[in-house]
Amino acid sequence: MKGFTVWLTGLSGSGKTTIAKELQKKLLMLGYKAELLDGDDIRRNLSPDLGFSKQDREIHARRVVYISKLLARNGIISIVSLISPYRAFRAYAREELKEFVEVYVKCSIDTCIKRDPKGLYRKALNGEIQDMTGIQDPYEEPLSPEVVVDTDRQSVEECVDIILTKLNRLGYINLLEDAEEERNVKAK
Ligand code: ADP
Repeated sequence: MKGFTVWLTGLSGSGKTTIAKELQKKLLMLGYKAELLDGDDIRRNLSPDLGFSKQDREIHARRVVYISKLLARNGIISIVSLISPYRAFRAYAREELKEFVEVYVKCSIDTCIKRDPKGLYRKALNGEIQDMTGIQDPYEEPLSPEVVVDTDRQSVEECVDIILTKLNRLGYINLLEDAEEERNVKAK
C-alpha cells in the first residue's frame, strides 16, 4: 500500500477537522491505513512549548511534516489538518513529502466567525488573542491546490466525496478495486 499525505489547509472553523475525521473513517472502511494529524490534538502532544507566532507555527508544522513523512514511508495515509496559513511553508511541505495532496478547505471568514467552534474568533475580536489567522494574522490562499472544497456551500459528505474522487483520479487509491473487494468480503 502506498503512503501519502492529504494536507488540509484553511481558516480556523473552516471544517478541516470535521472533514479529516470523516475522510479517515471512509479510508479505513475501504481498507486503507490512515492516521489523523490534527492541528489541536497534535499541538498539545507534540508542541506544548510553542505558541502561534510565525516562527512557532513553522517549527510546529515542520514537526508535523516529519511525522507525516515517517507514516507515509510506512504505507500509511496521513491526513494533516493544520491551518498552515503561509504559502511558502506549504511549498516546503510539498517538497519534503513529495506524495502530497493539498486540499484547500475554503470558507468565508464571516461563516468561520459565526461557527466559532472554539470561541477563538470571539477572543480575537475582543483583543484577548493577538495572532488569530484571518483577524490579525494573514491567511494566504493556495494558488494551485489539488482539491478545493467549499464548506459554505458543500456538505461534509460532499467535501469528503470530492477528496476521495480526486485521490482516485490521481492514482493514490483505487475506488473501483476497493468496492469490488468490499463486495467479495461481504459475499464470503
Ligand atoms: P477547523 O478544524 O477547520 O478549525 P472544525 O472542523 O473544528 O474546523 O469546525 C468546523 C465547524 O463547522 C464544525 O462545527 C462543523 O460541524 C461545522 N460545519 C458546518 N458545515 C460544514 C461543512 N460543510 N464542512 C465541515 N464543517 C462544517
